[in-house]
Amino acid sequence: MKNNKNQNNRRIVSVGQIVGWIAVFILAVLLFNKPGVKQTELDYSEFKHKVASSEVSDLTIAPGVISGMYKNEKGEFAPFKTVRMDDPELVSQLSAADIKYKAEADNSWVSNILFNVLWIFLLIGLWWFIFLRPQRNDGRSAMNFARSKAKMQDPSQQTVTFKDVAGCDEAKEELQDVIKFLKNPKKFQKLGGKLPKGVLLYGAPGTGKTLLAKAVAGEAGVAFFSASASEFVEMFVGVGAARVRDLFDQAKKNSPAIIFIDELDAVGRRRFAGIGGGHDEREQTLNQLLIELDGFESKQGIILMASTNRPDVLDPALIRPGRFDRHISVPAPDLKGREEILKVHAKKVKLGADVDLKVVAKGTPGFVGADLANVVNEAAILAARADKDAVTKSDMDEAVERVIAGPQKKSRIISPKEQRIIAAHEVGHTVVARLTNHSDPVHKVTIIPRGQALGYTMQLPLEDKFLTSKSELLDKLCILLAGRAAEEIVFGEITSGASDDLNKTMAYARKMVMELGMSDKLGPIALPTGDDGEVFLGRDLSRHHTYSPELARAIDEEIMNLIKSSYARAKDIITKNRAAFDKLVETLLEKEVVEAAEIDEILGLKPAASQDAQPQPAEPEPVKEEPKAPKAEKPEAQQAELF
Ligand code: ADP
Ligand code: ZN
Repeated sequence: MKNNKNQNNRRIVSVGQIVGWIAVFILAVLLFNKPGVKQTELDYSEFKHKVASSEVSDLTIAPGVISGMYKNEKGEFAPFKTVRMDDPELVSQLSAADIKYKAEADNSWVSNILFNVLWIFLLIGLWWFIFLRPQRNDGRSAMNFARSKAKMQDPSQQTVTFKDVAGCDEAKEELQDVIKFLKNPKKFQKLGGKLPKGVLLYGAPGTGKTLLAKAVAGEAGVAFFSASASEFVEMFVGVGAARVRDLFDQAKKNSPAIIFIDELDAVGRRRFAGIGGGHDEREQTLNQLLIELDGFESKQGIILMASTNRPDVLDPALIRPGRFDRHISVPAPDLKGREEILKVHAKKVKLGADVDLKVVAKGTPGFVGADLANVVNEAAILAARADKDAVTKSDMDEAVERVIAGPQKKSRIISPKEQRIIAAHEVGHTVVARLTNHSDPVHKVTIIPRGQALGYTMQLPLEDKFLTSKSELLDKLCILLAGRAAEEIVFGEITSGASDDLNKTMAYARKMVMELGMSDKLGPIALPTGDDGEVFLGRDLSRHHTYSPELARAIDEEIMNLIKSSYARAKDIITKNRAAFDKLVETLLEKEVVEAAEIDEILGLKPAASQDAQPQPAEPEPVKEEPKAPKAEKPEAQQAELF
């Protein structure tokens, strides 16, 4: 749910600047060459001919070039020039033919130098624009690019404490040691405590890793340096390493301190000696980081903290003992955690009496801290826009949907015919979602466009699922394909509206066959998918050799089978319930939003036990994991889904 717009913007700006400079350059060259009147270029032999026949006049003889007027084919006099050759007889011939000529001193070196100087200036300008100018926006001088851009926060301004971080009690507990140590390094040592050095916080984006690190600094009352690892590698080779060095130097001067590196995987990915040798700049930066990690003694009162959402791709050297050897998981919050996080953020706004944060927490499975902060913020904005005194339940509900799907687009005008297609498509999803046994409860269906979607069926999963069964995934494929199936059944024609559904279907089917071993024919196999984000040429090549062409064909067939049979099943469910389906389409067209209770009524079902009444599933036994090799979080199955 996060985006990297800022960085991209900056890139776009530099491209704009480059284009600008190229324009300036072309202009300069044109000006310098002053085309003025067009001179025809004559061969020297031709020129001599014209001299012999007196068809040239007003010559200027410069050291390298002779120019003047000549009589062209049309018999008119026009300017010309020719390259001068060593021709001692020329002057006597000119005199004999009574042609006027004058000599010109050699000043070509002046223009040469001017031209070169211009070039140099242009290059310096270009370099300055691309590499140094963006930094000035950060209020730093132009020549400081080797300095770390880390932001330092004084202990005195440190206002974030553990009170501000909710719902990750285990992580807080584990960080107590670090706080004790930072508060009094000497005492900690005397008591024989093993000195922590590097702490790796891992978890999905927005779960509060940065916030936790800041809170540790706040609790311990020490300086906090934060830098994003991606900043280290954005420029020239060598700068990243210099910045790492500078960051550590700054921290040492201000110890005790915490150095926090965000997105550690940006520099810390596994080094790979593939074809071409990998990414030099990143590797240099990583090496420098390792050197600094080994070089400082914990006694100096510095703790390095880092965050990543891909601990599995980190270079093993980074997480070895003595380096980032403490791994703390910061998971997406559970129901109670979400309620607590909402409470923390709701302190900043005035809540109406009808808002129950527990209910909000229930309706936001899969949301991380950043999403929840966003919900409260959006709700406050909505309430303010409507001139309300307090945030009401309706503001909260709208805010939740905004965070899931983007703002409503009521102004978008959709023709009645298209609306019919959209309604049928959505009701297809809804009916199949409601009538399959292993799917999450349908929350509502709407044809009010929101964000990118023209309409959507919203399913809210039951609280906190950690495992997904094959039946659930099969139902999911069926639900995803039901929109397209409905279009085909009702209109005998299919539209582009299903493209996102189809992408998701493909992704799920692939995953089932290739990663989860859920294909009957192929059995429990898991194939390397190489989804560690970075395409290394060498690694890519080697991956394709891990299975045979026969297996590849069988995989494709299994994926196709899954998709085809799910599509047939979706069509079957809709056809068998056609009357209810049609009625729901009409209701949806009329009301634009149909909620769970009414959906059930139309489908002639007993209302599904509402989420509030649903018994909480027993906490599943957490899968025991080796703490040494932290796994990436895979939260996808828990999110609220829109189709
Ligand atoms: P991460 O570093 O894991 O991507 P951040 O720490 O940057 O996430 O979280 C972004 C924002 O989300 C925080 O500034 C805070 O407002 C909110 N937030 C995230 N997690 C929590 C939490 N556990 N408690 C309170 N607020 C949170
Ligand atoms: Zn759809």
